[in-house]
Amino acid sequence: MNADAVVLSSVTRAYPGGVTALDDVSLQVQRGEFLAVVGQSGSGKSTLLHCASGLDTPTSGSVVIGGTEVSRMNETRRAKVRREQVGFIFQSYNLVPSLSVEQNITLPLRLAGRRPDSAWLAGLVQRTGLTGLLHRAPSELSGGQRQRVAVCRALVARPAVVFADEPTGALDSVTAASVLDLLESLVDDLGQTVIMVTHDLRAAGRARRVVTMAGGRITHVAAGHRAPVRAAA
Ligand code: ADP
Ligand code: MG
Repeated sequence: MNADAVVLSSVTRAYPGGVTALDDVSLQVQRGEFLAVVGQSGSGKSTLLHCASGLDTPTSGSVVIGGTEVSRMNETRRAKVRREQVGFIFQSYNLVPSLSVEQNITLPLRLAGRRPDSAWLAGLVQRTGLTGLLHRAPSELSGGQRQRVAVCRALVARPAVVFADEPTGALDSVTAASVLDLLESLVDDLGQTVIMVTHDLRAAGRARRVVTMAGGRITHVAAGHRAPVRAAA
């Protein structure tokens, strides 16, 4: 199996009007890696995540998700790759208000015409602390609970990679820490690959590697606190 979950090679994304949101970015993310992306507002973090997850296509360069080149696919084929390989957690949760917690969580499977794996689903619900809340509406949940539903939904189809765009941006610090604990445990216990954009340097420190962006470029790469400790050679 391919050791890289996502590979970006010389990815540029220019928007009409002349903004180059991503400027020749190359990045390799290994399976099981927890990568944080930091940088000021407007530095290109969301654009990076959208291109790397197949939500958007670069103007030039290549994006390979789980060994599949997606950057020149049409939207229909990219949507299929996303359904099969990608989970996405948005800052604002993006839950469907008219659906229950359980229906929100299993929505990606229904869209893909797949049945939930009940053992996997039960494990996720327990791990995310949502047992007992499955029949509620999103409006009956706290912000942290809503974000945990969004995490659960992103994982339900067992994606190769989870992308999270400021997943703690709307949460208070205690609730944010619990969502980060959850993401961290997914990496540690399930070998999940997570790519997380954040403003919060403390949150970024949870990752194994921290990439800093400025002006559409990667300007700095550092080890997070959780970098594996290597014996001196
Ligand atoms: P970040 O997530 O770091 O705040 P973004 O990736 O959202 O940054 O934006 C990077 C740059 O691209 C910014 O200058 C932003 O204004 C611009 N941009 C983002 N989306 C669009 C768009 N749809 N059309 C035009 N410009 C955009
Ligand atoms: Mg953003």
